[in-house]
Amino acid sequence: MSTATPETPEPSPRYALEIRGLRKTYAPRGGEAGKEALKGVDLSIPRGSIYGLLGPNGAGKSTLINILAGLVNKTAGTVRIWGFDQDANPRMSRASIGVVPQELHLDPFFTPREAMEIQAGLYGVPPAGRRTEALLRALGLGDKMHVGARSLSGGMKRRLLIGKALAHSPPVLILDEPTAGVDIDLRRQLWDYVRELNEGGVTVILTTHYLEEAEEMCDRIAIINHGEVIADEPKSALMGRLDSKTVTIIPATPLDRLPQTLADRSDVSTILTPAGAVAITYSRNHASLGALLDLVISAGIEIRDVTTAEPSLEGVFLDLIHRDEA
Ligand code: ADP
Ligand code: MG
Repeated sequence: MSTATPETPEPSPRYALEIRGLRKTYAPRGGEAGKEALKGVDLSIPRGSIYGLLGPNGAGKSTLINILAGLVNKTAGTVRIWGFDQDANPRMSRASIGVVPQELHLDPFFTPREAMEIQAGLYGVPPAGRRTEALLRALGLGDKMHVGARSLSGGMKRRLLIGKALAHSPPVLILDEPTAGVDIDLRRQLWDYVRELNEGGVTVILTTHYLEEAEEMCDRIAIINHGEVIADEPKSALMGRLDSKTVTIIPATPLDRLPQTLADRSDVSTILTPAGAVAITYSRNHASLGALLDLVISAGIEIRDVTTAEPSLEGVFLDLIHRDEA
């Protein structure tokens, strides 16, 4: 697939996106205080990746995406898209990305075909260079080209928005929560299509609050929380963290110190809680709960209760924030 518009000189940047010191403070409105949604974000997104921007609701993901899309004005910082500075070279930077917004806004009066053609026209793609029908077919909308947008289901609207974002063949595609509210079959289809685009050379950035989605799709993941990037690493490294689990063993009598056999284990991290319980954080790939319990029992501790915390995105956040503050 061709990934550049005819008038894009196509530099070969190392990074599809380079974001430095990005800040956004929303002005106060209707009695609410101003909101600092981004607090100095730095991100370098390598060309060719499928990059996940993961974070809970309200973390600032859409704010970031909307700044890239030119829909929200940044308060401070620099953004380079495909090597083009957003302020110094707005036309080129805009031509280099396609953005699929979180909201399913479509003009109800146009058919998918018309919507695609208008979009291509807006970006100055000459009729001969347009891929309207091929894109609609690739997105499974081949039989919906001429229906009113009003009659499209949510999933179809999402796909049409992806088509619109690709109408000018940008080298960078950004998807904001692409599968929120999308059923499992369609989710799979979308993932397949996104992967196909990526194999064709498109750098993909997607935001999600589904860990599973990031895990399945992305080769690199940044975690954003309260407007700050708290992790930015290859998926394998992040998943390594998720592999850890914490078990809290409550003894019949509170302990005043850790048994030596536990304290000596270097493959697990053991602490004595203020309540005199033993909290062991271990990698599920490298230690079993049974073996850890045996260790505690053989240290002469009578176990009253055991609680475990499942690893979760929330857990990774807490873990990372905790590390930040340590
Ligand atoms: P996410 O996409 O990660 O859920 P958002 O970027 O939408 O997060 O929101 C980040 C924070 O900024 C939230 O606290 C949100 O309420 C606030 N926010 C988003 N848009 C606006 C706006 N237009 N005006 C004021 N505050 C906003
Ligand atoms: Mg959002």
